[in-house]
Amino acid sequence: MIVMKFGGTSVGSAEVIDKATDLIIQEKDRKVVVVSAMGGVTDRLVSMAKKVVDLPNALVEEECNRFHRDFLEFHRSAAEAVIRDGRVLGEVIARIAELSEELRVTLLGLGYLGDLSLKPLDYILSFGERLSVLIVAGALESKGVKAKALTGYEAGIITDSNFGCARPVYSKMKDSVKAALLPLLKAGVLPVVTGFVAADKNARITTMGRGGSDYSASLIGRFLGVDEVQIWTDVDGILSTDPKIVSSVQLIPKLSYIEAVDLAYFGAKVIHSKMIEPAMEADIPVRIKNTFNPKADGTLIVREQERIERIIKAVAIAKNIDIVNVRGMGMSETPNIAGRLFSLLGENNINIPMISGSSESNLSFVLKRGDVSRAVELLNESFVGNGVRSIEVLEDVCIITVVGVGMTGTKGIAARIFQTVADNDVNIIMIAQGSSEVNVSFVVNAEDGNKAVRALHKRFIEDEIRSG
Ligand code: ADP
Ligand code: ASP
Ligand code: MG
Repeated sequence: MIVMKFGGTSVGSAEVIDKATDLIIQEKDRKVVVVSAMGGVTDRLVSMAKKVVDLPNALVEEECNRFHRDFLEFHRSAAEAVIRDGRVLGEVIARIAELSEELRVTLLGLGYLGDLSLKPLDYILSFGERLSVLIVAGALESKGVKAKALTGYEAGIITDSNFGCARPVYSKMKDSVKAALLPLLKAGVLPVVTGFVAADKNARITTMGRGGSDYSASLIGRFLGVDEVQIWTDVDGILSTDPKIVSSVQLIPKLSYIEAVDLAYFGAKVIHSKMIEPAMEADIPVRIKNTFNPKADGTLIVREQERIERIIKAVAIAKNIDIVNVRGMGMSETPNIAGRLFSLLGENNINIPMISGSSESNLSFVLKRGDVSRAVELLNESFVGNGVRSIEVLEDVCIITVVGVGMTGTKGIAARIFQTVADNDVNIIMIAQGSSEVNVSFVVNAEDGNKAVRALHKRFIEDEIRSG
């Protein structure tokens, strides 16, 4: 049995949904399908939610009605183009209309309240996937496959109530995923499940972080004990860097879980970094495939770590990052200040992607831009005056990460990486401490990011391949 997950571009239009459903039908193994919202829909929902809370009350209704019209029409026309069975189409369109109306009313309420907290935002974002599964399941039905659209929660994914970035509750999911999906599979029904969207134990809708459909797929795979999790996307597999930055990229045929996590965590958004853990726990191979070029072999991610001759397999870049500097002469005399500071951020769900060294009077680390203002507020409240004199933010940097098994054991490789960056006139602001054995990460100004990626890719991948 396998899980097949289709991302936003792979269900982005009627034409592609047609392609994706053919791929699903051609796969002879038993399977569960997981889908994202149609491409761009989640972004549109985020923008609309932000917009409507700031509107004056007099304009809220008109704006919600306009959004509702476009949203309904977008999904209805996709359904009409892809579902060729009249009865199925009628049912799907009725359900699309119901859900779109529910979205309109929710947005209306939000607009009048003018308060966008994470719980209602998750509810609004869920409509993207809740509609796309209906269309994909309908398209499959009209091609003669018995299919059923389910939310993540209906498929047994139960999370905590950490809205916006909910975490799975493994103790509950031990039974819930099997209980939800096995009876359908036994009855010959193909489950089509919303990625990204689940619910907490009180059935309140949650989402698992942007790009989280991959995570939904690997969680379902883990708790069903499948043979493979397939991620169908818009590139041939994991590439030596983002093809939007470098055109002469190489496909990586095989990668270890550890290398894949580091690449994804530090910016290669082709997979969500959290998706690796469930697969790794159950030793399930993950295969990345291209919906638009299904003949390409793709990338296989497995436990085994394979060292290649040139060592470096890929370069990633994580953008929208800021540096936080905490300063104060009293820091060295205040016991365990770094420990307490990082615990405070952790307790508030603020992740620290990278920590630079600390000195007697200074501690620096990087945060995702979206977390910075909350982190500074928390640190100001608890630490300024208590050993800390000031907190400064250095805006607009990015993290560059070079990945490959054997990096830390190979003499001179870090020096060559930093030399290549310096030769291209790029200043390194910070170097990661305690990076994993398969990566080297460092921070540069955002404006230098793409230049550094191109230089490293040329030096360590293109030139190495050319020189054989
Ligand atoms: P999906 O909608 O299928 O989930 P995403 O947009 O999340 O797809 O991820 C695919 C994109 O990831 C690609 O179009 C590519 O631009 C980007 N990407 C960044 N780094 C890499 C990489 N190293 N290999 C492949 N794709 C990458
Ligand atoms: N639709 C969600 C997003 O755009 C989840 C996903 O695509 O994986 O973030
Ligand atoms: Mg994605």
